[in-house]
Amino acid sequence: MKIICDESCTSYHNPGHPERPLRIADTLALLRRQTELPIEWLVPEPVSDEAILRAHLPEHIARLRVPRNFDADTFHFPDVEKMARNAAGAGLLALECARKGEAAFSLMRPPGHHATRTESMGFCYLSNIAIAALHALATGTNRIAVFDFDVHNGNGTEDILLNQPGAAFFSVHEHPCYPGTGAAHVGDNCFNFPVRPFATREEYRDALSRALDGLRTFRPEIIGVSAGFDAYAHDPLANSPLEAEDFHWLGGELREVRVPMFSLLEGGYSHDLPELILAYLKGVDGK
Ligand SMILES: [Zn+2]
Repeated sequence: MKIICDESCTSYHNPGHPERPLRIADTLALLRRQTELPIEWLVPEPVSDEAILRAHLPEHIARLRVPRNFDADTFHFPDVEKMARNAAGAGLLALECARKGEAAFSLMRPPGHHATRTESMGFCYLSNIAIAALHALATGTNRIAVFDFDVHNGNGTEDILLNQPGAAFFSVHEHPCYPGTGAAHVGDNCFNFPVRPFATREEYRDALSRALDGLRTFRPEIIGVSAGFDAYAHDPLANSPLEAEDFHWLGGELREVRVPMFSLLEGGYSHDLPELILAYLKGVDGK
């Protein structure tokens, strides 16, 4: 397993905000001390303008340099552009690993799946997964699927990939919940699988299974995963029921699709995030 991380991504924070540096620092500590999963560590390069501009408008990059908050929970930081470029660059490196047949996980912040073509929102500044998907399509991949199991709908990914030839988007999420989107399928390639708040594990797994069926039907050459761990039963930001063994199961199911895949960290705000990530990665690794 390749894990892509630049520890400088823990250098910014807003006191009390759930998207905090410890998410990464604690996960790094666990992954370094565990011995079950062999890991090769990689450091990303910042993403280029060329790659960003497939997914975002030039004005969006310029806005990252304006020292004003984006919304009530998406703050401006002095280094926000650099941080966002590193996280998006990690997505591209994960894609390249997958193309070489190596499963890869980007352990970075900020997350990306709420950032639309024109807007930073929901703790997200650049759409890391959409940038990677469009880069894949621009550099030789014909069919890419994005599978998003963060508890929140990936509205930004959908905004950018909507009706994009060669791309399909599958999102399983609690609904109604932030950001309010994702009640039904959109366009000809965005497939939403809403799950009611306070659903049972069986209901949630059923939605994940239906999304996986859709993913297999699409017959992707490569899968990019928006891996959010906030559908966890003890996550403070949502009301969903999953346990560590469900993330392990999901990693195994994605592995069983038998095409190259890479995963990017999105949400997940509980103190158990490191264990949830490790469970998922063991599933992806077939352990
Ligand atoms: Zn989330």
